[in-house]
Amino acid sequence: MKIYEYQAKNLFSQHEIPVPLGKTIDNPQQLDSIFSEFNSPGIVLKAQVYTGGRGKAGGVKLTDDLDQAKILAREILDMNLKGLPVKTVLVEQQIDIKSEFYLSFIQDRDNSCFKLIFSPQGGMDIEELARVNPDKIWMKAIKYFPGLQSYQIREILTQLPEISLSAKKSLYTAINKLYNLFIATESSLVEINPLVITGEDKCLACDAKVVIDDNALFRHPQLASLRIPEQEDPFEREAKEKKLNYVKLDGNVGCMVNGAGLAMTTMDVIKHYQGQPANFLDIGGGAKSQQVYDALSIIVKDPAVKVIFINIFGGIVRCDQVAEGIIQAKNKLNINHPMVIRLIGTNDQLAYKLLKNENLQVFTEMSEAAKQAVKYLEESPK
Ligand code: GDP
Ligand code: MN
Repeated sequence: MKIYEYQAKNLFSQHEIPVPLGKTIDNPQQLDSIFSEFNSPGIVLKAQVYTGGRGKAGGVKLTDDLDQAKILAREILDMNLKGLPVKTVLVEQQIDIKSEFYLSFIQDRDNSCFKLIFSPQGGMDIEELARVNPDKIWMKAIKYFPGLQSYQIREILTQLPEISLSAKKSLYTAINKLYNLFIATESSLVEINPLVITGEDKCLACDAKVVIDDNALFRHPQLASLRIPEQEDPFEREAKEKKLNYVKLDGNVGCMVNGAGLAMTTMDVIKHYQGQPANFLDIGGGAKSQQVYDALSIIVKDPAVKVIFINIFGGIVRCDQVAEGIIQAKNKLNINHPMVIRLIGTNDQLAYKLLKNENLQVFTEMSEAAKQAVKYLEESPK
C-alpha cells in the first residue's frame, strides 16, 4: 500500500526523523494563514500523488510570493500527474539545501534479507542514477538478526568527506531512525530522496516515500486507515472490493485463473508463446459463478485486453459453476472478445456441455489453449 508524502512525513515525525515544517491544503486561499505562520517567506508547493518524479513533471514549485503561490497552488490542484488527480498540496517551508543524498531500505527477497541503499548523489531519479553512475549507489545487506549495525552506517559516512562532523552525526541518527520505522511499519520500501544537509548543517528528509506491505496491514490498523482508494489503480481497487487478487500488467491477454500458483504458471505459458498478460488474476480456490462473473467484468473493462484466457483447475471449484459464470458474463456483459477456456477437474463434463451449447470452445491442455490465445491475438485488429 502506498501512502502520500505528507502521511509518510507524519510517520517520520513519529519516529523522530526531521522533516521540514509543512501543512496540507486543498484550496489556494488556505495559503494566507500559512504564510503568516511560517516565519520565512520561501515555501515549496508539492502535489500529493502516489507517484515519484513530480519535480520533473511540474508538481513541485518554489516561491516566496503569496499571490504567486496561490496561482501555483491552483495550477497544481488542477493537474493530473501520470493519470492521477491532485487533490492535496503539501506546503512546506523552503529549505536551504547544501547537499542532497539518497537513502532507502528495501526487502531483498533474492537474498532473504533487507538492503540499505545510499547515494551521495541524491535528488535525481535512482533508476537513472543506476544507469549513468552505478558507482554512486552503495548498498549494504542487512540480516533480520542482528539488524542494521552501526559499522555499516559508519562505512557510508566515512566515504562522505565533504560534510562536517555534526552533519554526519545527524545523518547517522536519521539512517538509524529510518531503519527503525522500516521495521516497525513492516514496509516493503522506505525512501528519502533527497535526504538533505541544510545550510545550518542540519539533516532533513525533504521527500518521503513509504510503501507498506499489504500482507502485514492487518497488524497495523492505524496504517491501514491511511489508505486512499482514489489514488489506486481503478481495476485493482474494484478487484479488492470484490475480494479478487488482481494485479494490472502491461499486456493484452486478460487472464482469469484460480489459485496463485496456476495464475503465475498461466502468465509464464502465455509469455512462452510470445503473448503478454494484461493482468494477474486469481479468483481464489473456492470460487463460484459470482466470482467468475466479477472477474470477467473487471477484465473486459480494461481497454488493453484483446483476448480472454481462462485457466481453471476444478479441485474445490466446480467446473460447472465456472461455466455458468462465464456464460452469464458473456451474455449480460456482451463480451465479444475471443475467449480461450481451459477447464478441467470436478464436474468438467457438465461444464463442457454447458459451454458447447453456447458455442464456446474448451481446451484441456494448457499449452494448446495458450497457443490459441496468441493466435487470436495475431488475428485481432491492431
Ligand atoms: P519528486 O520529484 O517527486 O521526487 O519530489 P521531491 O520532493 O524530491 O522534490 C524534487 C526536488 O525539488 C528535490 O530533489 C529538491 O531538489 C527540490 N526541492 C524540494 N524541496 C525543496 C526545498 O525546500 N528547497 C529547495 N531549494 N529545493 C527543494
Ligand atoms: Mn524525491
